[in-house]
Amino acid sequence: MGTPKGAKTDWTFNSLPTILATILPGQLGRFYRAYNNGGGDECWEWKGPRDSDGGRFYWNYQHRQRVVSASRLAYYLITRKDLGKEKVRHTCGNNLCMNPAHLEI
Ligand SMILES: [Zn+2]
Repeated sequence: MGTPKGAKTDWTFNSLPTILATILPGQLGRFYRAYNNGGGDECWEWKGPRDSDGGRFYWNYQHRQRVVSASRLAYYLITRKDLGKEKVRHTCGNNLCMNPAHLEI
């Protein structure tokens, strides 16, 4: 999987509850399948599309392709904290890591 061409609607800093409301259950299943939840303390590497600073999740909503930071969405799904403009940091230094134990704001 590469980065889809023509994707222009970056929702990374939109409200996370609003973003999640536009993602269908099947699309969310694709999100969860895009990384290895290895359990424990290891890094869970995102295998989907990526940008220079980490993983990206793409989905379609109202006939347009949307994109959001994958680790940001993962952090929200665990904590239910809407992050505003704050960025998620990887304490392990691996910006493709999805292990919530390695994510902080
Ligand atoms: Zn990690």
